[in-house]
Amino acid sequence: MIPPIASRFVAGETAAAALEHARETNDRGIGTILNLLGEHYHERDPADADAAAYCALLDDLAGTDLRACLSVKPSQLGLDVGEGVFRETLARVVEHADERDRFVWIDMEDHTTTDATLAAFEHHARERGNVGVCVQANLRRTPGDLDRLADLPGKVRLVKGAYDPPADVAYRDRKRVDEAYRESLERMFDRFDDGVAVGSHDPAMLAHAERLHEEYGTPYEIQMLMGVREDTQADLAADHEVWQYAPYGGKWFSYFYRRVLERKENATFALRAVLDG
Ligand SMILES: Cc1cc2nc3c(=O)[nH]c(=O)nc-3n(C[C@H](O)[C@H](O)[C@H](O)COP(=O)(O)OP(=O)(O)OC[C@H]3O[C@@H](n4cnc5c(N)ncnc54)[C@H](O)[C@@H]3O)c2cc1C
Repeated sequence: MIPPIASRFVAGETAAAALEHARETNDRGIGTILNLLGEHYHERDPADADAAAYCALLDDLAGTDLRACLSVKPSQLGLDVGEGVFRETLARVVEHADERDRFVWIDMEDHTTTDATLAAFEHHARERGNVGVCVQANLRRTPGDLDRLADLPGKVRLVKGAYDPPADVAYRDRKRVDEAYRESLERMFDRFDDGVAVGSHDPAMLAHAERLHEEYGTPYEIQMLMGVREDTQADLAADHEVWQYAPYGGKWFSYFYRRVLERKENATFALRAVLDG
């Protein structure tokens, strides 16, 4: 069982718990992006198993009115085993979702996976359109990628980037990454007429998105992680489209640990929970 200390960031260990979380989130006016925790599989079996678990989750969602979609990781669907395996398992999930009128986001992992991830996204965006991909503002290549993606169906989520790429492929200074985020966001509001997904908790980036929306008129949605600025998520949902990325599943520990390490407030929260027993 997930200890209460981790349940701030993780929706539960089972699909049933994830659906219950989605219901609670929907009741606060927020859509839910469900991610089964798992990554960097070096064999085919766990990739097939997670693809099957996503298809089962889509079957569960089909009988509900939940405002929910999926987000999958390429290395969870077998990219480290081979690009062909990833393509095959992703196709299974995307087709299953399309038949049930559901949307699938593809997370972006480290910079060595960008080409394979974008190629898979482009294929499904052209074929079906019920897919979105995450793009990292810290990568120097991103403006060019955005230009390529602008005219495709499907959606793009812009994030700052959670990995630690080398300086020849990425900006590493926080201020420069923020600047790159602002520039890419403007490119998207200018070119992505169908809408922009803003994946950030940063008030400065959210304010920039609102200004760009006023200037270009492009619709946008805000995406944040479960357990991060939850009050703000609810406040924003009063007059914006807000989606919460909610991970679930048995492999919760390393995800929880990452959240705790990334901010002092989260570490303090974890420590307080331990001390309070
Ligand atoms: C929905 C979603 C999906 C994502 N998917 C991917 C992905 O596929 N690939 C990838 O590489 N990365 C992904 N990320 C992570 C992303 O790249 C960043 O690492 C992460 O969002 C931190 O950057 P930030 O813009 O939120 O703000 P930061 O640069 O971390 O912080 C800037 C400011 O935001 C506010 N803030 C940030 N965190 C908190 C907090 N915990 N509590 C209170 N205030 C806070 C503070 O004011 C802070 O000064 C995703 C993020 C989100 C929200």
